Amino acid sequence: MELKDKLFQLGGELKDKAEKLAKDAVDGSKKVAEKVKIKNAISQAESKLNAAYLEIGKKYEELYADSTDEAFAELLAQVREAKASLEVSRADLAAVDSAVVCSGCGKYVQEGQRFCPNCGTKQPEPEAPVEEKPETSPADFVREATNSVADAVIEVADAAEAALLPKDEPKADAPAEDAPAEDAPADDDAE
Ligand SMILES: [Zn+2]
Repeated sequence: MELKDKLFQLGGELKDKAEKLAKDAVDGSKKVAEKVKIKNAISQAESKLNAAYLEIGKKYEELYADSTDEAFAELLAQVREAKASLEVSRADLAAVDSAVVCSGCGKYVQEGQRFCPNCGTKQPEPEAPVEEKPETSPADFVREATNSVADAVIEVADAAEAALLPKDEPKADAPAEDAPAEDAPADDDAE
């Protein structure tokens, strides 16, 4: 075979190889995108399943709270316990939310109390703290901090997803396969 023909054949092979690599790259990107969609579908189905299980549990507890069925006794006891502590925590939360910090001793004083039960400092009139409360309330502070952390997490997740989707898999594969095949035959034919 003449050099010209050999080069022509080699060019064809390289073209095929490049086309295959490009196709693999596109297939890889599609696979990643497809997986993201499938994973979304999976987590949606899981959420529905969990919501249904939750409803079943609630319904059972509603209908058979006093059941002596051994299979459910332990779980029903846990529900009663959790409900009781939930009630206590909600009352605590409401108390903290409506409390103001005493300017005299720094302890919480329930709204509406005219004097601090701890140090006796006279508390401001009801009108004044209503406007100031949102800025200083610890509950609001925690809520705002939580929201900004959540926003940051969502931002990072979006960026990561955007970065992962188009390029990751194909780019990693392409150069490794390409390099050796291209160099070797070109040298042989030139001599
Ligand atoms: Zn006080």
